[in-house]
Amino acid sequence: MKIRLNFFGIIFPAFFILFSSCTTEKTAEIKIIPKPLLLEIGTGTFKLSRKTSFVLADDNKTLFEGAKIFSQIINKSSSFVLEPEYRSEEIPEKHVILISVEENGEKYGTEGYSLNVTSDRIMIKAAKPAGAFYALQTLRQLFPPGLEDSLFISDSWSIPEVKIFDKPAFKWRGDLLDVSRHFLPLEVIRKNIDYLATYKMNVFHWHLTDDQGWRVQIKGYPELTEVGAWRVDYNDMPWWGRPAQKSGEKATYGGFYTQQEIKDLVKYAADRFVTIVPEIDMPGHSQATIASYPEVSCDGRPYKVATGGVASDNTICPGKEITFEFIERVLDEVLDLFPGEYFHIGGDECNKSQWKKCPDCQERIKKEGLQNEHELQSYFITRVEKIVNKHGKRLIGWDEILEGGLAPNATLMSWRGEKGGIAAAKMGHDVVMTPNTYCYLDLIQGDPELEPPLGYSQLLLSTVYSYDPIPKGLTEGEARHVLGVQGNLWGESIQNETDMNYMLFPRLLAVAEVGWTPKNKREWDDFTDRLEYNLLRLDNKGIDYAPSMYNVWVEGNWDEDKGGYRLIMKTEHNRVPIRYTLDGSDPTMQSELYDGSFFINESCVLKAAGFMNGGHRRITIKELRIHKAAGLPLITEKTWNDRFPVENASMLTDCNRGSTDFKDGKWLAYEKVDFSAIIDLGRETPVTKVELGYLEQQRQFIFPPERVDVWLSADGMNYTKAGSERIDVSLENTEIAIRTVEISFPSTKVRYVKIFAKNTGICPSGHKWAGRNAWMFLDEIFVE
Ligand SMILES: [Zn+2]
Repeated sequence: MKIRLNFFGIIFPAFFILFSSCTTEKTAEIKIIPKPLLLEIGTGTFKLSRKTSFVLADDNKTLFEGAKIFSQIINKSSSFVLEPEYRSEEIPEKHVILISVEENGEKYGTEGYSLNVTSDRIMIKAAKPAGAFYALQTLRQLFPPGLEDSLFISDSWSIPEVKIFDKPAFKWRGDLLDVSRHFLPLEVIRKNIDYLATYKMNVFHWHLTDDQGWRVQIKGYPELTEVGAWRVDYNDMPWWGRPAQKSGEKATYGGFYTQQEIKDLVKYAADRFVTIVPEIDMPGHSQATIASYPEVSCDGRPYKVATGGVASDNTICPGKEITFEFIERVLDEVLDLFPGEYFHIGGDECNKSQWKKCPDCQERIKKEGLQNEHELQSYFITRVEKIVNKHGKRLIGWDEILEGGLAPNATLMSWRGEKGGIAAAKMGHDVVMTPNTYCYLDLIQGDPELEPPLGYSQLLLSTVYSYDPIPKGLTEGEARHVLGVQGNLWGESIQNETDMNYMLFPRLLAVAEVGWTPKNKREWDDFTDRLEYNLLRLDNKGIDYAPSMYNVWVEGNWDEDKGGYRLIMKTEHNRVPIRYTLDGSDPTMQSELYDGSFFINESCVLKAAGFMNGGHRRITIKELRIHKAAGLPLITEKTWNDRFPVENASMLTDCNRGSTDFKDGKWLAYEKVDFSAIIDLGRETPVTKVELGYLEQQRQFIFPPERVDVWLSADGMNYTKAGSERIDVSLENTEIAIRTVEISFPSTKVRYVKIFAKNTGICPSGHKWAGRNAWMFLDEIFVE
């Protein structure tokens, strides 16, 4: 037997037992994702073997294709061959999987189904082929996880008796994949579509163009892929720190899909009841377009395909007629390739500074009687919508298309929170909800210190799962405009299939359930229980998913009454036993079991891990420094900024460090202003060192203090300067770092410690935002 190591190279003994006991008689547990609407569990089993026939009672080609996909999966891991066949009579009573698409199956809607497994036969009913296909996806999950691991060949498979009636809560259950920032080969795209279909998702939103690459062949404009599909390879550098392309550098990184490849993919997706929604992002995010055809830009100068970061001069020109001729001819080709109902125009984050300077744009504003550049964008979108409608399609765009007036028939995709979606629904437009705070799968899914360097900010699995696609404040009628929900995997940090899988899984399963299962049927503990079993299926397929729900989060606070630091540990998954050590050794099954909060009084290194099936995924390591100022009050003026609210300044002596997420509530944030504070140690105490903890994240305007001074006093009136430290800022530091600055001095007996930190004031010259206000983020003052 071949052993697959997971992402972390850890083997789990208990998983072995499950693998090796996956014999013919083993029946799967019933742990279906997304959760079916109604499920009754029987006592018997159905045995799938060479005796079983697979009968379609309706001669329907789409249905047949879907059934074939199911039988291919069975055949890979069985010694027998199961093939679907059409039969209108002589349908066997026993040993049969029978699918019938009922004429009067109104209760099923387009995508609903019933699945009835008895010991004699499996009966699937639906009104449409899509429903039958989803019944087969449910059926897949009734097999033991070993079914989809081709290492196992079995003579028969047992399935538990069940009775299921199921249909989706929402009709749009989508996921976006960005292939512009990093090109992904078709083989990976096909797998992505397989994943969507497996979890009953039906929209693949394909972000095909952006500043960093144009990915679809356009025969009328060959330069779009000859030039626009290639950029300089800076993949070894962080996305935000990549320089612009210098002259002489070769653009070798990228790729594109030919029209034939796209047609094949559209068919592949359609066989799996997935519709592809193509996105050609405009009028912003178009640097690859204007690098290929500068004549559709405002100034016509030569451009290069962007290499990373955020592009600024990246718009096409809505002032020129040639731009609309270009779009019309491009869309003639694109819309022919994708038979689906929707075309996505993008329309987001359009930097309009070039339009302000462009005589053509200004002329257009005058001629059309527009108020400003926002209305010019609205004019642009409305004109493109007419082209799209002419092709019998509907236009969908990001919520910025609201600005300056929404095009008459447009559907809106709400990403900057829910506001745009609510506004558009109230105006009677259809909306798809994909707020970045719940649906952006490119965000980090756990403690940034434990996660691989993919993504930014944070979006936990439990947060995704908690989402309700119907925003509060909509009437029932308005809520009907909410078509559904979508996850978005942007590509800035997704360089390959492994990165993609890690960010997709397991959050994609949460998105799938949010879209399929009504909110009142969903429950987090129940989901994690089912998810755990489904992770075995991902293990079997060799998919390296994020194990972040097992991460141990450590929180704590100085407890004045107990005179100690109170430690609280938890995992996102609520039923994971946590074991820990305080002596620096790695936790094992024999280590102390955490059973509620406890106190520590001296510095130590805490190591903790969530244990499942006898193993653990990751160890959380927390250095806890208990110092002489721990828990002591400090006197300081409230000059920190409330944009990053904290309760009070006592968090500077609570022994808690902040994280690399500057919005975690553990940082005192100072915009442009300096910081000073006095700590009263209560009695004269020997002191040799003071340290100040700070954050450096230059991209977010967060710089180290320019200088830190420490003053000491015995009486609180007369202070003597004990030391001073300057910190040189290197603009080379593009990474996020939690640091301390240290001021040491000969041991001195004092009662009062004064600390002063000078803010850099403004972003220094050479920085991207030179001259703008600089921020200083502080988390702890250590006194030793
Ligand atoms: Zn212009």
